[in-house]
Amino acid sequence: MKIAFIGLGHMGSGMAANLVKGGHEVRAYDLSAAAMTQAVAEGCIGAASLNEACQDAEAVITMLPAGQHVLAVYAQVMEQAEPSALLIDCSTIDVESARKVAGQAESAGFAMVDAPVSGGVAGAKAGTLTFMCGGPQAAFARAEPILQAMGKAVIHAGSAGAGQAAKLCNNMLLAITMIGTCEAFALAEKLGLDDQVFFDIASKASGQNWSMTSYCPVPGPVPTSPANNDYQPGFAASLMLKDLTLAMQAAAQNDAHTPLGAKAHTLYEALCRQGHAAQDFSYMMERIRRGS
Ligand code: NAD
Repeated sequence: MKIAFIGLGHMGSGMAANLVKGGHEVRAYDLSAAAMTQAVAEGCIGAASLNEACQDAEAVITMLPAGQHVLAVYAQVMEQAEPSALLIDCSTIDVESARKVAGQAESAGFAMVDAPVSGGVAGAKAGTLTFMCGGPQAAFARAEPILQAMGKAVIHAGSAGAGQAAKLCNNMLLAITMIGTCEAFALAEKLGLDDQVFFDIASKASGQNWSMTSYCPVPGPVPTSPANNDYQPGFAASLMLKDLTLAMQAAAQNDAHTPLGAKAHTLYEALCRQGHAAQDFSYMMERIRRGS
């Protein structure tokens, strides 16, 4: 397929490269010259403008920082792309903007899917992302084979915005389990337990969770976790704060009671303010150990 790919940053570059490997013709466009150079080196065709990327495209994929970028880019995409083109937004954005842009796309005659991802930069490079999709069934059916070239799981969550809703709820839960796991290790240490011993027990007991067994915030028990690499991301604390902010907005707008989500937001905000925004979100371990 001819696919326009807009936004070739940390995530988009790996995703576009996997579409090329999957046999698609990928026209790449990014505001950053460095991102364009990398995309071309990975086999994409560099487009001189957003309009050029969209011309004749059968699908347009966006992987942009936030809602305002998606709304601005989509205003142009909907003018330039053929109405037969499938529109897929993989960015993580607020549910309200996702629903707004989906409504605009529908009015303009486009099929559209919101398809935010889980799996981080490593998953984007390896083609092992999980896509959480929102939109009409027919649009999802068209998007599924394209997304499969970039991921290990493609799940239809419901109507427009449902993919973003699933993403925000998942990441709020992740933030909470990470903080809980950090607290448990910190208390275990104070009580004289060895990290590995506590891991061996809790990972086989009812405290078991992904933040512990796949992404352990203390060095040692899970060799691939960022804790073993000086907390280099991985998933940066700033991105966790972004997702928690979106989750708190959604909770406020929908009258949902999320006291632990709110506390997690406060703690990640403080971590970022203390100069650790670029470190992995599991760096929360150090903050909890310090008690500040
Ligand atoms: P990034 O900042 O590295 O990349 C975004 C790219 O979009 C940049 O290269 C930027 O130049 C480009 N861009 C911005 N406005 C543009 C425009 N008008 N036209 C063309 N290009 C434009 O961000 P990222 O880490 O790749 O994240 C992208 C999205 O994926 C975000 O919504 C993020 O929350 C989400 N996400 C990121 C991760 C992660 O680990 N990095 C994981 C899951 C989801």
